Amino acid sequence: MLINNRLIDKDEVSLSINDRGYQFGDGIYEVIKVYEGSMFTATEHIDRLYRSADEIRLVIPYTKDVLHKMLYDLVEDNKLTSGHVYLQVTRGVAPRNHAFPTELTEPVLIAYTQSADRPVNNHRFGVSTIFVEDIRWLRCDIKSLNLLGNVLAKQQAHEAHCYEAIQHRGEIVTEGSSSNIYGIKDGVLYTHPTNNYILNGITRQVVLKCCQEIGLPVVEEAFTKEQALQMDEVFLSSTTSEITPIIKINDTVIHSGEPGIYTRKIQQAFEEKVQQLTML
Ligand code: PMP
Repeated sequence: MLINNRLIDKDEVSLSINDRGYQFGDGIYEVIKVYEGSMFTATEHIDRLYRSADEIRLVIPYTKDVLHKMLYDLVEDNKLTSGHVYLQVTRGVAPRNHAFPTELTEPVLIAYTQSADRPVNNHRFGVSTIFVEDIRWLRCDIKSLNLLGNVLAKQQAHEAHCYEAIQHRGEIVTEGSSSNIYGIKDGVLYTHPTNNYILNGITRQVVLKCCQEIGLPVVEEAFTKEQALQMDEVFLSSTTSEITPIIKINDTVIHSGEPGIYTRKIQQAFEEKVQQLTML
């Protein structure tokens, strides 16, 4: 795995209990998908990492290009074909005190790979979800290590035998516990606008490109829980889930429990981008 700028064996890693990531969740992270040994939308993920870092006033001590190369080498070193890279940067190691440590404290970067098959059955058949009140903080645009709200939401979904929790603030649907949410009604795609209430998903950006390519109009406007239940099609997106149809929300079956035609077209357009990457 990668620790700062060194590739080392997992067994040789030691991390401090005084790491601010461990003590406060004081750090940021990214997950980058790897198809056939190639990282998908790595530049966009790295850009978002630096944006998250800026927002929490953390300075990553490498250029974006150097970090990109380090991640490339990690994937090569681990001979990863299908899976993802996880990376996080914390504000470093210092005696526990809420305020930032001195400027001499170096951030701690770790990254490792995880092999995983693509969730093809979910893509094919769709998944069930539940509504969960969004109790997270007001900077959900930062990909922070503080994931307690997301963890509690996902656990609720898990206990309800569902794949994902669709979070809502009051009546307004925001996003999943680890995904973005979309609804399609009368040939128009709706999704929450990018502001402080949601993470601007990298897959979301790809989805919007796919919509443009297939000629599906997009309205970046929030919808309500009630509207979600009346959509013709609903789906979610994330780096690891890609484009996953939603066929049930609470007790309401969407589109007779079958992934819809537009969702299928978006999946196909997405697939073409994956194929292009692996042909390079
Ligand atoms: N929202 C949240 C809360 C997430 O955790 C994720 C997954 N990282 C997403 C949206 C989707 O983002 P991406 O497409 O970049 O994986």
